[in-house]
Amino acid sequence: MIRGSLLVVLTFEFLVSLYVSAQNDKEKADLMITGGTVVTMNATRPILPDGIVAVRGDTIVAVGPRSEISSRYAAAQQIDAQGKLVLPGFINGHTHVPMTLFRGLHDDVTLNDWLYKYIFPAEKKNVNQEFVRWGTRLAAAEQIRSGVTTFADMYYFEDAIAEETKAAGMRGVLGETFIDFPAPDNKSEAEVLAYTEKFLQKWQGDAFIHPAAAPHSIYTCSLKTLQDATALARKYRAPILIHTGEMKKEWDDSQKQHGMSPVQYLEKLGVLGPEVISAHCIYVDEADRKTLAKRQVGCVHNPSSNMMIASGVAPVPEMRAAGIAVGLGTDGPAGSNNDLDLMEEIDLAAKLAKVTKMDPRALTAKAVVEMATIEGAKALHMDKEIGSLEAGKKADIILIGLDEPNAVPLYDVYSQIAYSLKASDVETVIIGGRVVMHNRKLLTVNQETAIAKAREYGKAIAASLGLPPVD
Ligand SMILES: [Zn+2]
Repeated sequence: MIRGSLLVVLTFEFLVSLYVSAQNDKEKADLMITGGTVVTMNATRPILPDGIVAVRGDTIVAVGPRSEISSRYAAAQQIDAQGKLVLPGFINGHTHVPMTLFRGLHDDVTLNDWLYKYIFPAEKKNVNQEFVRWGTRLAAAEQIRSGVTTFADMYYFEDAIAEETKAAGMRGVLGETFIDFPAPDNKSEAEVLAYTEKFLQKWQGDAFIHPAAAPHSIYTCSLKTLQDATALARKYRAPILIHTGEMKKEWDDSQKQHGMSPVQYLEKLGVLGPEVISAHCIYVDEADRKTLAKRQVGCVHNPSSNMMIASGVAPVPEMRAAGIAVGLGTDGPAGSNNDLDLMEEIDLAAKLAKVTKMDPRALTAKAVVEMATIEGAKALHMDKEIGSLEAGKKADIILIGLDEPNAVPLYDVYSQIAYSLKASDVETVIIGGRVVMHNRKLLTVNQETAIAKAREYGKAIAASLGLPPVD
């Protein structure tokens, strides 16, 4: 009996020592996401059932089937992704995040009325550094909850937006707006140039914040403003964010004033290049598409916004066919969308293209998921860093649950993501290896405070415009 017990103990110890030595032989990771259906979005687009994503620091070190990765890597922190989809974080390629605080201020009016009767007066009276900080916090909560890990922004006080974005643990391409009238922060071109130069210097080389210059558009910036903003961005190798071809009036005026399209005008001024990220691109003809492709300009399609303010339909299939990287954006979130839900844009991008072409094959589920991930990363010129799950890329990873009624049954992963799953199905979000939302609980933003503050701002903004009080 004693001898038998001894044998059991010795065998147990032997097995433990084998296990320990096997663990010691493994490469160390910090975090492993195990057992999920991994939608890699890498060059060959494999989808791995029962896969593992291993993360060390802020970087993915391995992606593969569990059978292969679990024998090679060990990590102290594990996240069980069984029964869930594991994807690269979504990329919101165009927005103005502090405008969350103007959400729903006045809708169903023309863009011109909205801008001149409501938004410009509201901005003049209310936008300051504190405003953009609270708006950015609210937007960070909303975006993380819908699986967005990187966004491109154009607004004022962009340095404060950068600080709040970094505090929320999000990645951002953040552009200080150049516009030819006194803005809430900078009152002249000289001021905005000085502010932006300091901003570019401060954030250069930051892992999360890519500071940018954002000349608003050809219809709000003079030739000089456009060229000065471009030269400043190029001096610091920074991205350039601009609205291009976003309305018919812009196209018509450009033909009248310059004798050419908005894209050809920007080309003539020397603005276009591989650091440019161009929002909308609705009014771009075949010659324009060739120019955009040649100059490696990234384009961002904003279907909700284009539909809500009746701007038109961007020729997305034609742009993709021309070799242009086309991402997705929410725009807004006030006046031209009213939320920051990128999953809604995935769905609408496909459906808008289908109904416009009267062809359900015009833009597929797989294509729109690409636009929200790897193509979106290319449009922001960040595809070496983000956009897919593969070794060497930043660990920007989301887990989407599949247990709600709208998620079952599952035949086709891309179709489910594009047409069935909702932002509320996003459960866990990791940015640069850091868990920023776990099982729907935000870990980097105080959501309750952000919501309470937004309600306070709602009352104050309504009062500042003489509108009836809001609850
Ligand atoms: Zn915009």
